[in-house]
Amino acid sequence: MTESYVCPTCERVEERSYRVRFIILTCPDCGENGRFIHTSFVDRLEEIPESEHPEGWADMTLDERLLYAVREGLLQIDITGPM
Ligand SMILES: [Zn+2]
Repeated sequence: MTESYVCPTCERVEERSYRVRFIILTCPDCGENGRFIHTSFVDRLEEIPESEHPEGWADMTLDERLLYAVREGLLQIDITGPM
């Protein structure tokens, strides 16, 4: 059983045996160092209605969207605490 994490920039998926909110690594595909976020968050970001999207949402990386959504109260998750 593995957990999937998604590159915030190119959406490459990395598998890990443990479950955390995000892992930080340099992506082998796009070369960006960033927060690969757990797929459960990717799913929840997709559930945010378009009417709640800020200007530039389409140009934001996944982790930027996640931080925005948490800050604006669109997602009720604590990204700093334990899973
Ligand atoms: Zn990448």
